[in-house]
Amino acid sequence: MKRNNVHPSAGELHRPARRIATLAATGPHPPSSGPINPSVERASTILYPTVESYMTRHDGFYDDVIYGLYGTGTTFALAESVAALEGGYMSVITSSGSAAITLGMMAFLKAGDHALVADCVYGSTRRFCELTLRPLGIDVSYFDPLADAKALAAAFRPNTRLVYFESPGSQTFEVIDVPALAAVARARGAVTLMDNTWATPVCFRPIEHGVDISIASATKYLSGHSDVMLGTLTMANAEHYEHVKDTVGRWGNCAGPDECYLVHRGIRTLDVRLERHQRNALALIEWLHRQPLIKRVLYPALPDDPGFAIWSRDFKGASGLFGVVLAEECRAVAASFFDPMECFKMGSSWGGFESLIVPAWPPPERVHRPTLADGYLIRVHAGLEAPEDLLADLDAAFDRLRVALKR
Ligand SMILES: *Cc1c(COP(=O)(O)O)cnc(C)c1O
Repeated sequence: MKRNNVHPSAGELHRPARRIATLAATGPHPPSSGPINPSVERASTILYPTVESYMTRHDGFYDDVIYGLYGTGTTFALAESVAALEGGYMSVITSSGSAAITLGMMAFLKAGDHALVADCVYGSTRRFCELTLRPLGIDVSYFDPLADAKALAAAFRPNTRLVYFESPGSQTFEVIDVPALAAVARARGAVTLMDNTWATPVCFRPIEHGVDISIASATKYLSGHSDVMLGTLTMANAEHYEHVKDTVGRWGNCAGPDECYLVHRGIRTLDVRLERHQRNALALIEWLHRQPLIKRVLYPALPDDPGFAIWSRDFKGASGLFGVVLAEECRAVAASFFDPMECFKMGSSWGGFESLIVPAWPPPERVHRPTLADGYLIRVHAGLEAPEDLLADLDAAFDRLRVALKR
């Protein structure tokens, strides 16, 4: 019953010889006959021809199709492509980015353990730590994303089992010294998980920098078309892969084959899309920098950004999401700025084709206050539109702000 067409020996996967653009476009093992794309296999029941093959089906749990819950050929094909992109051993696909995060943590934590979490993580991740992990008897503390290796080492406790972070930080875009943090964690025997949704493996490959598990909300750039929810966990080694695959299955989390197909399709153009997202972001930022009502832009690819030194050392590029700190008085007249926007839309999520602009706020419970200029923080996603149209939209919005503020 072994699927010999799709899943190669997993060991090959952590030595991707090809470049990211090639891996994204064609995957690690493009077929040379038959359909070039994996088919959408919808299945619960998987049939076996003999009682013996049926009774031993669980031998194939990690790399074969044995029951719909654990993935069909469509799921494994996507997992292999993601693993190749990440330079990892193998990936597990979950029903959302949030499921990837929470199940990734649950796989390695038990009562009495301590989790060290970056203070700048995604809001839902923080709520999971506070409202689910803590009541289970798992202690959580938050470290300053700007801390150096020495301060990071001091944040560890004897029972620190897991380190979880995101770089750049959600809303505030701090860049973490990932290689330093990963090395400290490894020396202390703690597993490291990184939410790499912002950069995607095109711009940053966590596993190459010493991280054990790279997590993505594939809902964002990997899908790229704002029509799918999906998450990925990519493990650096077989032991972690099997453990996470077990955990995700035991919790009954399952990614649908249609979603897997769509994300796989999105990945084909990931490299070219990110190039355009970055170019548009830079075009918008260059223009925004000249607006008197703007105090700061939060985007690590800017030479005057506090995260620039580490970003330029570790990252190969930047994506299309950034923060803008407007003068505080803009808050009271925000409706005049946002509501009549034409190209920019308002809505949660990002990473799709469309440009988005929304008010933002770092969680008030942050322990290490972000070093933002005081002001009104908004978040911009530069989509794939022509930058001239986006700039015209912003130009009109700043005109409206000036009228509302009687400037
Ligand atoms: C959106 C997002 C998530 C959650 O992903 P979903 O697929 O929406 O569940 C996690 N982390 C980051 C950084 C995100 O932007």
